[in-house]
This record gives sequence, C-alpha cells and structure tokens, in this order.
Amino acid sequence: MDASAINALAADLAEADHAVVFTGAGVSTASGIPDFRSEGGIWERFDQRDFHYRRFQAEPADFWADRLDLQEELYGNDEIAPNAAHEAIADLESTGHVDAVITQNVDGLHDEAGSERVIRLHGTASRASCQDCGERFAAEPVTARAADGELPPRCPACDGVLKPDTVLFGEPLPTGALQRARQHANDADVFLAIGSSLTVEPAASLPDVAQRGGATLAVVNLESTGASGRADYDVRADVTEALPALREALS
Ligand code: ZN
Repeated sequence: MDASAINALAADLAEADHAVVFTGAGVSTASGIPDFRSEGGIWERFDQRDFHYRRFQAEPADFWADRLDLQEELYGNDEIAPNAAHEAIADLESTGHVDAVITQNVDGLHDEAGSERVIRLHGTASRASCQDCGERFAAEPVTARAADGELPPRCPACDGVLKPDTVLFGEPLPTGALQRARQHANDADVFLAIGSSLTVEPAASLPDVAQRGGATLAVVNLESTGASGRADYDVRADVTEALPALREALS
C-alpha cells in the first residue's frame, strides 16, 4: 500500500469542509458476503432475470421462492459482521472527517458499524414494504414467513404483496437518495470511492459530479476502476488495510 498517498489524502481530509465516502460491493465482500459481478460471482450461479422487477410483479410467489435461495447464499453465514473498513469509515464520521456515506450495499453493515448518515442507493435488505399501502416491516419475520410457505408474504394490514426494500433490476433508484447523493458529491471537497469498480451507474458518474464541483477524488480498490485514470489518489489496496491506515494517519 502507498503510505505517502494515504498520508497526503489524510491531510486533504483534515482540511476538507465536506468529505463524502462512497462504497461498493468490495467493502461487503471483505465481510464474507459473496460478490455479484466478478468471475464465479452470484450472477454466474443465479439468473439475474429471476430478480427483475417485472418478474416480481408478474410472479411474486416464484420471485420470493428464488429470493429465499439468494438470501441464504448471501447472508446464510451467521458470522457476517462489519469489517475493519466499515469500522474505520464510522470512526471517520464520528471524528468529523466524513459527512456522509453513500452506499450501493444493502446489507446494513455501515449502520451496524455505527455510521449515522448513510444514503442507501439500492435500498436495504433489512426491510420489506407493502406494494399497496406502503407500510414497511422488518425483513427478518417476513422472510421467515416466506420460508414457512407464505408465498408471497402479504401485508398484515391490507393483504397487499410485500417486496424486499432493495432495488430490483429494472426498478428505478429511490429518487430522494439519488438526489441527496448527487448533492453531497457536488458539495464535496473530498470524494472517497471505496471498493467499487465505478463502472455501473450511478457509481460511474458520481465521481464526475464531485470532480466538476471541485472535489479531490480518491479511489481505494484492489483493482483499477472506471475513475482510476482521473483520480487524484488511486490507491490499489485491500480496503480493510487502507481505511484503518487512513484513520491512523488522521489521529
Ligand atoms: Zn399494506
């Protein structure tokens, strides 16, 4: 890992009025959650089309049956917990160095680590919502009911079909979250993209929004990303080593 880049980035963060962290799947895989898009990833073992919004609308019972299998694959491991990167990001927020965390991850691990200002671009796996009345429920009991054969699980209040509160393929991103993410990117002095290949929207364009707004762009990822060529800092490192090192450099 490039220690001089970490130290220089720490100095920029220390001076920033508004610093924003953006996280992708690479932050979750370090906690043992399988990767989606890489070779051997989830989408080589599951058919993306089964998790499309249109499929949920047309065949909610079959959607939920496949969803249970996917959930088991993703979160079946009881050991899943925030890793050193989640913890360092939460510490950077609590010490005033980071103002918001924008994430594409739906696993709730930023919240569990103690991050408070989290913008969830792809929703959250910890809730489900009624498609008719909008009421939201904790996902765990809903999933348990589905596993017991209630397919699809329905709203106790109005009998509407429940949907996981994650953004499905073919479903638009939550507009409020996307707007807040763009605003934070635009306002940022430092935009720190972590564990994302930055190739899929909106991950691909948020670094541009930040740079056009005058931000210093830092990328931390094991491999080259869509923004590495224009980043001010392109740190190729394990996120669970780079983020604690950044926290140390600021303490
Ligand atoms: Zn309802």
